[in-house]
Order: sequence, then structure tokens, then C-alpha cells
Amino acid sequence: MKNFYRETVEDIMGALGVTEKGLNDEEVRKSREEYGFNELAEGAKKSTFQIFLQQFKDFLVIILIAAAVISAFLGKFESTIVILVVLVINAILGTVQHVKAEQSLNSLKALSSPTAKALRNGHRIEIPSREITVGDILYLDAGDYISADGRVIETYSLQVNESSLTGESESILKITEVIEGDNVSIGDRKNMVFSGSFVTYGRGVILVTGIGMDTEIGKIANLLESAKEKKTPLQVGLDKFGKKLAVGILAISVLIFVINILRGTPMLESLMFAVSLAVAAIPEALSSIVTIVLALGTQKMAKENAIVRKLHAVESLGSISVICSDKTGTLTQNKMTVQKVFVDDKVIENDKLDHDKKLERLLVFMALLCNDAVTTENKEIGDPTEVALVNLGAIYDLDELEIRRTYPRLGEIPFDSDRKLMSTVNKCDDDKTYMITKGALDVLLKRCSHVRKSDGVEPLTEEHKKEIEYINREFSESGLRVLAFAHKEFEEGKEVTLDDENDLTFLGLISMMDPPRKESKDAVASCINAGIKPVMITGDHKITASAIAKQIGILQGRDMAMEGYELDSIGDEELKSKVENIAVYARVSPEHKIRIVRAWQERGNVVAMTGDGVNDAPALKQADIGIAMGITGTEVAKDAAAMILTDDNFSTIVKSIANGRSIYANIKNSIKFLLSGNTAGIIAVLYASIAGLPIPFAPVHLLFINLVTDSLPAIAIGLEPHNENIMKEKPREINTPILDRTFGTEVIVEGIIIAICTVIAFYIGLSTNSTLVASTMAFATLCLARLFHGFNSRSRESIFKIGVFSNKFVWVALIIGVLLLQIVIGLKPLERVFEATQLNITQYLWVYGLALLPLVLIQLYKLIFVRGEK
Ligand code: ATP
Repeated sequence: MKNFYRETVEDIMGALGVTEKGLNDEEVRKSREEYGFNELAEGAKKSTFQIFLQQFKDFLVIILIAAAVISAFLGKFESTIVILVVLVINAILGTVQHVKAEQSLNSLKALSSPTAKALRNGHRIEIPSREITVGDILYLDAGDYISADGRVIETYSLQVNESSLTGESESILKITEVIEGDNVSIGDRKNMVFSGSFVTYGRGVILVTGIGMDTEIGKIANLLESAKEKKTPLQVGLDKFGKKLAVGILAISVLIFVINILRGTPMLESLMFAVSLAVAAIPEALSSIVTIVLALGTQKMAKENAIVRKLHAVESLGSISVICSDKTGTLTQNKMTVQKVFVDDKVIENDKLDHDKKLERLLVFMALLCNDAVTTENKEIGDPTEVALVNLGAIYDLDELEIRRTYPRLGEIPFDSDRKLMSTVNKCDDDKTYMITKGALDVLLKRCSHVRKSDGVEPLTEEHKKEIEYINREFSESGLRVLAFAHKEFEEGKEVTLDDENDLTFLGLISMMDPPRKESKDAVASCINAGIKPVMITGDHKITASAIAKQIGILQGRDMAMEGYELDSIGDEELKSKVENIAVYARVSPEHKIRIVRAWQERGNVVAMTGDGVNDAPALKQADIGIAMGITGTEVAKDAAAMILTDDNFSTIVKSIANGRSIYANIKNSIKFLLSGNTAGIIAVLYASIAGLPIPFAPVHLLFINLVTDSLPAIAIGLEPHNENIMKEKPREINTPILDRTFGTEVIVEGIIIAICTVIAFYIGLSTNSTLVASTMAFATLCLARLFHGFNSRSRESIFKIGVFSNKFVWVALIIGVLLLQIVIGLKPLERVFEATQLNITQYLWVYGLALLPLVLIQLYKLIFVRGEK
């Protein structure tokens, strides 16, 4: 069947063999067999073997291989084999890291992959979008991504943004009727929806007609870019730094090559040494260390309910200085229970509600009709505000489903957080049709002209308004969320539009409690301690919001609360000057969020912003870190966000910031470890060349240390657990380079200390008149000193403060490293291969003593001089 827009829904359902219960399991299986999964073909992925080969592409590694081959021609087979083996081991380590990082990033992606609401076997269920198949009936709500093509079966003001297909940014209002014509363009097929678009308003039901590459977008899209993460700013910075450093090291290597030639060392040997020095000292692994530490860090964060969608977010997390957070569900529990009701001039507590009061009953009855929530024995489906109303109905023995069957809905204008109202049209009792509207009192009261009391309907006077507003204020001051209700008679058969939300009769108020989450107060305190300003942004009433904000510590001292309309009345400059004093924004609409983010950003802050609705997407993108809600968030919000909270919880944001700060500190420490170790090697070699000593290391020694034993501590340092002091510091300035002056000084000083110990070991070895013993001692000392140095690099603080055993990975790295070294220098058969010799006990004592010296010295320094920071 082609041109679905020309067919009736019944015909298409018939042709696809779909019933009103949706597909059953067998039909899904058959359809899957015929059409496959709902996915766009991806570009070819690199195989593990290709990744392995890639590790040899480095220019210097190629030179080294060439040198190894030449030395084989000259009969030096051992060194050829050893160099090749070391390079292969290095490539294996590189491949494992690469694959592991990729796997964890892929599993993160899978965690945040989109879902759809389908009707299967007569039940509404949620399925991964990939499993949608032709013939599925799908439900669409505002904020949903549409991931298949389909024919519209039902629409309630369903509006869809199809800009990804048509370029048209205005939303299209969908219809169900057949459209005639042969070559109707996509934009005009208003009874169809297309994959790649999203619902901006209303809701609807569709029948899937095309999936995967058979969708309109599948036809125009070429192969998807194979999922390649862009490098993070830190990686870009490190790459640049690495290039500069490489030039410096190459210069030193050339210098050493020349010195060796002048001193009569054979050409090939000099070349091998110079190239090995360069390969060993150039930190080509910097950006891959960042990837692996980031990837492992994001895995940990996912376990703690924060899914990172964009890797760079982990880096910026540590710099966040402002968190703009929604209230409902994020700071509060989003579990609402009705507390007080106001109707017929009376406030009634929830334990005094009365079955028989006519107006009370009418209010609750209407609250069930103008409502989409459903509760079953063990499940509550829908917006918690509406669920609270359904639960209220139970007190009056009113069953929501039965009522909705008896008084069917003829039309509706769905709730949206800009308008803060929802209306339905229902056919009621006495064959009359009513329009029922519920929403925020400040919006609704302006649209009322009458008020209903037990003795009839009266015109709404200023007196009435004052009283209603007074009650609303009273409710709000105790932190209650208030919904107002109104109604009017409506012409049957007439289509309901926004203009109809006028001339209403006010009926009453229902207030509900949404208690703050237990952990919010502590999380807010920890934020403030960490130099981060928490800001509440909510659609709720100012007084309600302020009451909750005070309870959890967001609104303190001179902080102010501001309403959306006040925001409208001030310019951006004024907002910028006031923004630091405003802790609560109430009655805001999503557009206000962008202005608030910008104002903070212009004051030099790094801003995190939460959001859930379709209209929140622009603000989520504008924020430095957009955070979408996993439970209540729409697909569109999730897609725009850099991070998703699977528990919608504010305290998870604070935990993630702590994680972000730790991960950044760990990366920095890991890089410091690598650079200081490399510096030590270079200084030792440089010293020996200048001082006219023999070459202290064989090429294979340098390669062994740098390519084999060094990577383990580097990763172990990247896995350093949280330091509790991390949330006592101020946020890191976003633009300060990771490699600042202190960092550079520390790298050089630590490098020099290790180099001095290595050179001393070399001198002691030389005193035995054996260059082989000397170079074995220098090699062993440098290798061990760097392994021990792993402990120094764990933190800026002493390991006695952070716990000698609190990072077991560093111990594992040390033990493996020592074992490998002992195998290489201690096993007779390997002696020739590794150009090393057996050492006696005294020599070993010297080696281990000298290798431990930098650890002792640096730890002593930290113990005495460094406090409280990481
Ligand atoms: P937050 O932005 O912190 O999540 P919120 O949930 O209160 O806060 P909205 O959902 O935009 O924000 O609600 C704003 C106002 O709209 C509420 O204060 C309430 O008066 C009204 N409202 C909320 N839900 C509904 C609904 N389902 N039907 C009608 N009105 C509603």
C-alpha cells in the first residue's frame, strides 16, 4: 500500500491486519521478520583488529619498527624481538582501553535511548523505539519524539514540528481525515506523522506505516555517521599541548643523537636510542587516558542515577557555579496528597470532607473529568497532580473510569506549562454539555465572570476575588500547591478552542501537599558549601515556591523570589544586575528559563539547568549543562540535555558535581604522574650525555617503562575514589588550563627528584666497573621509582590523609609492575634480551631504597605543607 494519506484508517488497519487491540506477540514477530528493526543503517564500525592496527600508526612507532628491522639485519635479533614484543603489548593495552571505553560509552547510550508508548495485546506498554514495527498503534504526547512514520488515528490538538524533514519550523496541526491527491508533499500530509519529528502540543494516536530505512527520513538520510564522540575541550587542549611537547622532546632526542655520534657510538645504536627516548617520552597517551578515565567515571555516575549523554559534560560539571532546578519532582517528591479544599466560601480539611455536600461533590466530580490520570490497585498512571485528584475521588466513592464513561469527553485543550490551564468538554448529567477548566488560580480567576455557591451562581465581584485570593495565599504560605476549578455550559458539537477559556464560573480550590525530598536539604547545604548557588525555577505559585525553598534552604537571608511577570517587566541588563540575589523564580514559563541562564552566564558563571517539557529544550541547550528528568522528562528534553537524571532527584545533581570534580582531579593527577615520570627519564639521559657518562638505559628499558609498566598506575590514579574535601572547594574556573604553572613546577620538581635517585643508582652501578650492572640499576630504580610515584600522584594531599589503602588499584598496579620488572631483570634467560643483569643484595637494597626516596620525600612535604585540597 502506498500513499497512506489517501486511505482511511480502517482500510490501512485491514491491509496490515491490525485490530483495535494493537498487534499481538505473534503479529509483532511476523512483522519484525518482514520489516526488521526500526533503525537507520549505521556506517561501518571499526573492528577490534582495526583498532589494534591503528595503535601502530604513530609516526615514531613506525620509525622504531624500522629501526628494529634494521637491527635484525645487523644480527641483533634479541633487541628486535623485544622491541616488537613491547610494542605489541603496548598496542594490546591501547586496544583494550579503547574497546573498554567504547563499550562503556555505548552502554551509556543504550541507557538513554528513546522509547515509545505502544498498544500491544490490548495493553498500553512502553517499548524501545527500536522495537516499533509496522502495524503498531502508538500514543503520542507533547514532548515525544516520533520514531516511525504513521497515519494519524486520533488527535487532540496534536501539533508536530517537522523541521528536520521539511525545514519548516512552525508546528503542523494534525488531522485524521483522508487527503486526496497524488503528489501531496510531506508538509501537506497532515494526517500522517513522520519519523524524526516531535510533538510540540496536544496528543494523538497513530498507526505505524513505515519504520527504519523505509521512513521518509530513512529515504533521505544517508548512512548515519558512525557514532563518534567529539573530543572534549580537555582532550583538545591536551592534544595541542602534547604536540608542543613532542617538538621539544624531539629536539632533545636529536641533541642526544648528535652527542652520542660525536662520542663515537655507532650510528644505528645512537638512532635506536634517540628514537626510543622520543617514543618513551612523548606522551601520546594523554588524550586516551582522558577518554578511559571519563568513560569509567561515567559508568560510575550511571550507577548513581546520572546518565551522561555528552562526555564534555563530565569536565564542565566540576566548574558549575549555579544550579537552576525545577521544584516539582526534583526538589520535592512529586507525590501529592490533597490537604484542603475551598468551596462555597468554606475551607475544609481533608479529614472533614463530606460525601453529601453537593458543591463539594460537584467539584471533585469535575476534577475527575478534567483529568487524564488513572489509578489501579497497585499503579498510578499520569501526572501526580491529577493522581491526587483521582485519589480524592475515592473518598467520595467516585471511580474515575466509570465517571469518564458515563460523561464522555467531547473535546479538550491539553495542559501546558505556558498557559497553566487545562480544559475538557464533557457531556454531563441533564443532557447538558459543560466545559471544565482547571489550573493556576492567578490565570483562571482572570477568566471567570461568575462564582458558584450553594444557593446558585452569582456574578464574581471584587469582594469574591479578594476572598478567593486570600484563601489561595493562605494555602500557598504553608507550601501547598493550589489548583483552581471553573466551568461553564458549552454548545454541543462545537469545537473547543483557546478563546473558549473565558467567561467561566468559579467553583473552588483544591490544595495539595508535595513534601520536599528528604535529601534535598542536605544536598542544598552541600551545594552552598561547595560555592554553588542553587536556584529554584518553578511554574508553581510564588508563595508556595518560597515556602518550600525556605524549608530546604534555597531561600535564605536577603535572597528574593521573583515571578514570571516581573521578569517580563525588566530588561536583560537589569536582570543581570539582580540575578545573584534571586533564589526563586515562580510562575515562569520555559522562555524565562533561557533569560535566567543567560543572565548568570553573562556574569561569568557555569550554569546547570534542569528541564522536562518540550519547551524546555532551548534552555537546556543554552545551559552549560542541560539536565533532563529521566522519569517525568519528555524525549525532546532528554535529547537536548547533556545529562539525564534517572531518579529526577536534585541530590543526584550534587553527587554528579562531586563526581565531575573528582574525575577532573583524577585526570589531572594521572597526567601529572605520566609527565613527571617521563621528565625524570629525559633528565637522567640528558645528564648522562652531558656529564660524559655511558648511556644509562638500553632503548628497551625506556620502552618497557613507558609503554608497559607506566599505564597501569596511570589508570589506577584515574580511579581514585572521592576525596570528601572535594565539595569544600570553590568551583574550578572553566577556562583555567589543566596544565597551569603549579602543575608544571610540580612535574619538573618531581621529575628532577626521581632523576637524581636514578642517576645516583647509575653512579653506584658504575663503581662496580660494569656498565651492565650500572644500567640495570638505573633502569630498575627509574622503573620502581615511577611505580612508587603512583602513590604521590593520587592526590595533592598526603596518602596518610586520604588513606594508604583507599585506592586498591594503585596497589595492584604496583604489584604487577614490580613482578614484571623482576621477571625482566631477575630471570637469567631474559638477561640478554633485556640487556640487564642479576643484581646482588646490596645492589637491590640501593635500588629499592633510592626508588622509595622520592615517595618518602614527597609524602613528607605533603604531610607538612599541603592542607585540605586535592
Ligand atoms: P516545576 O516547574 O517546578 O516542575 P510545576 O510542576 O508546578 O513546577 P507546572 O507543571 O508548569 O510547574 O505547573 C504550573 C501550574 O500549573 C501549577 O502551579 C498548577 O497551578 C497548574 N497545573 C499543574 N498541573 C496541572 C494540570 N494537570 N492541569 C491543570 N493545571 C495544572
